[in-house]
Amino acid sequence: MSLSSDVIVIGAGVLGLASAAELSARGLSVIVIDAGGPNASSVAAGMIAPAMESALDDPPAETVELLKTARALWPAFAARHGLTLIEDGAGWRGPDAEGIEARLRAHGFRTVRTKNGLRAPDDARIDAVAALEALGHGSRRVPSRARSVIRVDGGWVVTTEDGRETTGRRLVLATGAGRALGGLPARVAGLIRAVTPVRGQLAFVPGAAPDVPTRTRAGYAVPVAGGMLIGASMEAGRRDLTPDPAAARSRIRAVCEVLELPAGDAEPRVGIRGALPDGLPAAGELDGVVVALAPRRNGWLLAPLVAGVVADAVQGTPPGPHAASLDPTRPGLIAPAG
Ligand SMILES: Cc1cc2nc3c(=O)[nH]c(=O)nc-3n(C[C@H](O)[C@H](O)[C@H](O)COP(=O)(O)OP(=O)(O)OC[C@H]3O[C@@H](n4cnc5c(N)ncnc54)[C@H](O)[C@@H]3O)c2cc1C
Repeated sequence: MSLSSDVIVIGAGVLGLASAAELSARGLSVIVIDAGGPNASSVAAGMIAPAMESALDDPPAETVELLKTARALWPAFAARHGLTLIEDGAGWRGPDAEGIEARLRAHGFRTVRTKNGLRAPDDARIDAVAALEALGHGSRRVPSRARSVIRVDGGWVVTTEDGRETTGRRLVLATGAGRALGGLPARVAGLIRAVTPVRGQLAFVPGAAPDVPTRTRAGYAVPVAGGMLIGASMEAGRRDLTPDPAAARSRIRAVCEVLELPAGDAEPRVGIRGALPDGLPAAGELDGVVVALAPRRNGWLLAPLVAGVVADAVQGTPPGPHAASLDPTRPGLIAPAG
């Protein structure tokens, strides 16, 4: 039997589910297609961190503004979709606190000096797995991989690997660093080819943890129930999911040394982020498909912004002020056919 809805979303990472939740909240029926299992979003540390990301990456001023805008959307987004937002800031530990403080201030973030470093009160966090669960509540799920899409009169038909067909008036593609499906318009396939996989590894370490997410030059530690997450590597071009326990151990030792915490052993987890050449995601309509792709290392932070842009594109409402920065047709993005 085939299922039908107003909108089909392919991909149940944070961008797919945040978009689905926003569309459901706006009164549309939504089906999400995803085989399930871990993805970058469920592996992530859940930091909503415009301040620390800006201090460490030192991006252009327009990108910082975008990160701040996304952060400002979070309290209302969390309340609207039943997520728990923890607004306890983030910390920095290490010898170069002054340099980090100067950069935070230059980008317009608040800072507080502490005994061992400093705190950036503007950052926040969520529990990624719990948030994904809450974001999925308003939509139906097809638990399979999408194999191909066909544009038909009045919408799209998606065929999944279990042989099922799902129909919808609009199609949202949120497949992370996944490969292109059969039947996509050429420019959408070109956009997907332009997405670089960036492998990231972090590890859950049981026991003592810092009181807030804390960055060091060696990596970060984020407190979670029963311990902390220590991460994370950025390995561009890799999409293999095999953990590297030796690299995890060495990062855990280095971070714990700075934080003066016991360096327990741990099982590493791997996720693959998608990234575009300018480091920003692509969100909006491209040749009849609405895309929500490649937020690099800020998928959780950017989710409310992307979800709003996606929902506006699906509904055909005038785009908000930040849609242009995420426009999938912006120059230099779409890879030529190879
Ligand atoms: C170790 C690590 C730590 C991170 N920490 C943070 C953090 O603290 N804060 C932050 O903001 N960001 C963080 N990130 C980045 C963030 O996780 C990503 O930017 C974000 O999860 C990407 O979301 P997504 O929805 O685009 O992709 P994904 O989460 O990868 O979801 C895409 C989904 O699409 C599915 N899919 C693909 N192809 C198909 C198909 N053909 N049919 C059906 N389904 C398909 C996949 O299976 C997957 O479930 C971290 C990432 C990693 C790896």
